[in-house]
Amino acid sequence: LCKEFPVESGVFGKRFSKKSVHAVNDVSFDIYEGETFGLVGESGCGKSTTGRCIMHLTRPTSGTVLFEGKDVSKMSKKELKEMRRHMQFIFQDPYASLNPRMTIGEIVSEPLIIHNVMPDAKEREKYVRELLDVVGLNPEHINRYPHEFSGGQRQRVGIARAFALKPKLIICDEPVSALDVSIQAQVLNLLNDLQKEYGTAYLFIAHDLSVVQHISDNIGVMYLGNMMEYADWKALYDRPYHPYTQSLLSAVPVPDPDVQATRKRIVLAGDPPSPIDAPSGCCFHTRCPMACEKCSRERPELREVEPGHFCACHFAAPNPIKESSIEL
Ligand code: SF4
Ligand code: MG
Repeated sequence: LCKEFPVESGVFGKRFSKKSVHAVNDVSFDIYEGETFGLVGESGCGKSTTGRCIMHLTRPTSGTVLFEGKDVSKMSKKELKEMRRHMQFIFQDPYASLNPRMTIGEIVSEPLIIHNVMPDAKEREKYVRELLDVVGLNPEHINRYPHEFSGGQRQRVGIARAFALKPKLIICDEPVSALDVSIQAQVLNLLNDLQKEYGTAYLFIAHDLSVVQHISDNIGVMYLGNMMEYADWKALYDRPYHPYTQSLLSAVPVPDPDVQATRKRIVLAGDPPSPIDAPSGCCFHTRCPMACEKCSRERPELREVEPGHFCACHFAAPNPIKESSIEL
């Protein structure tokens, strides 16, 4: 999947060149029924754009999105509407994503009305009350407005809305980033329970690895629109090959203080470069502690370093976090 956005750059108001941002650059992965694919990276790395391309809210520049084997870009309007019924979104900001003028009952019923499921109002209300109960809200509060709820409760409303049509895939775009840490765990547990119950697949987008580790079956790490590493969660945590994954993982706290003491923190210099002028060769070379001359020249291919474990680095080697801990 590739997605480019045109940008016009110029000096003193005079346009002189047309460039494009490669928001998503050759990214490919599978999401399986009832499983979670965690997509991780700093802001602006193309995670949300990937999610929007999957939903066909934005058209990819090239590449295909297959939903149950069907090319989303070749679907008719009718097929797209039907597909959207099976794909829902949960957004980062529970404050902004709920209409303040609608009661939570109206918010959760909306997808049912749009897709003309359960046309009988009484039956619909009964179902919405059940849904509110399932996500841990009081069904008696069905006529209250979003501002009467806390952030965590509002995210539960967003989850109830996403589950109303029993979708096959939910794109969770940083659903807990705006919440307090104590509330984050509750919302993640709820998502986990609902997945077990309904067999829903998740694309779970997050900016750090600590959030996705308990919920993901497979994890992809993105940087400046590129997939740097991708593996099942256990392999990624035990044997990270890519220096970028290694640095992200070194920032994840470990509950055992003895293990934590042996972990070397890898701090990256600077911020990610602008995607408009993405670095040549390996796009991570300006911040990589292992970069050498070849890295600025040649873009590393995403290659299979272990069965099912892919990494885009010329010098991919497993586990330096643990190796460096031996030195200590
Ligand atoms: Fe670092 Fe070079 Fe590997 Fe890129 S290819 S991650 S710059 S060592
Ligand atoms: Mg985003």
